[in-house]
Amino acid sequence: MNIHEYQAKALLKGFGAPVSNGVAIFTPAEAESAARELGGPLWVVKSQIHAGGRGKGKFKEESAGEKGGVRLAKSIEEVKAFAGQMLGSTLVTVQTGPAGKQVNRLYIEDGSDIEKEFYLSILVDRATSRIAFVVSTEGGMDIEEVAHSAPEKIKTFSVDPATGIMPHHGLTIAKALGLSGALAKEAYDVASKLYAAFVAKDMAMLEVNPLIVTKDGHLKVLDAKVSFDSNSLYRHPDVVALRDETEEDQKEIEASKFDLAYIALDGTIGCMVNGAGLAMATLDIIQLYGESPANFLDVGGGASEEKVTAAFKIITSDPKVKGILVNIFGGIMKCDVIARGVIAAVKAVGLQVPLVVRLEGTNVELGKQIIRESGLNVIPADDLDDAAQKIVKAVKEAV
Ligand code: GDP
Ligand code: MG
Repeated sequence: MNIHEYQAKALLKGFGAPVSNGVAIFTPAEAESAARELGGPLWVVKSQIHAGGRGKGKFKEESAGEKGGVRLAKSIEEVKAFAGQMLGSTLVTVQTGPAGKQVNRLYIEDGSDIEKEFYLSILVDRATSRIAFVVSTEGGMDIEEVAHSAPEKIKTFSVDPATGIMPHHGLTIAKALGLSGALAKEAYDVASKLYAAFVAKDMAMLEVNPLIVTKDGHLKVLDAKVSFDSNSLYRHPDVVALRDETEEDQKEIEASKFDLAYIALDGTIGCMVNGAGLAMATLDIIQLYGESPANFLDVGGGASEEKVTAAFKIITSDPKVKGILVNIFGGIMKCDVIARGVIAAVKAVGLQVPLVVRLEGTNVELGKQIIRESGLNVIPADDLDDAAQKIVKAVKEAV
């Protein structure tokens, strides 16, 4: 789960990390009072969307002006004008995809005078079962680009969670960033606070880009991107409360209500499969025969008829779906339950596209019989290969 920059900064501030003062707002009028409250003389007007690259992003609407999604303002009037231009407009960045994201909230921040911009991130490193730090002197820009063009400028090391962060880690960071004296001490202090927040809140990633040195010689977290491990959300109701569902795929939200493992993809064939491995194999074989999957969907081992119905509805609600492939290997899952779920869903929402069903395993005959007797226009398939070929053919014929 991701949160907005202003939420991340408030959370990090709670752990003592240095952040600027700021106010999150939803209307231009609120922007004006926020700017007055902060006092100036420099303000930053920052689009709050769950994507990076906002500064270099472009708004789709001409009315939003030429500048990007992060703007420096030198007067209260300017803050208000920028807010009016940016709110409700669609920002396209390298991370949003071409469709962009509508900006519904802004963060008005006290502007900082920047001496230097660094990069610092913390992530879970599965390979070493440790917590990795990535630091670089090349902050404020695309770190993927730095990794590509100047990999020697990126320093990584990992912290053993059993011992936690120690002074020598602070020294490593200071050295990598070329800091000495008081700033080196500050580097350890800031890193310790970020590390504490990372561990306490079960973050999966915490990216500070840029971490700056201010003109008056202090470190500050100028941008913050945080994602949390979804498996740990049950123990962080305060984090769950920060969720902004307008930033998420509606189909994925609906799926999570039914505890379905669903991920939206870009293709044309909707898939309903049980078991993650079989689901992956199904995506692969659809590609092999020349079409692309519209989603990954694992209904799980012991899905109920209600769950299957919900899954089917989510698939058919996607306008990109030009055909559906149900591929079930009944082990714990019984084929007749799947068949009843599919039929209930089709009765409720109709069936506008071809549907291929491949059932195998427990109660397979009963499942096939239920589908046959339903009178629905279902194309039966015998195995995975047969099913994939049939749905690809049906989709190609339909266009
Ligand atoms: P991103 O583009 O989505 O990564 O958004 P950031 O929050 O990183 O802002 C982009 C860039 O705007 C930063 O790298 C800075 O160069 C600049 N910026 C952001 N806040 C300030 C500020 O307080 N003062 C100044 N001078 N520049 C800022
Ligand atoms: Mg940034």
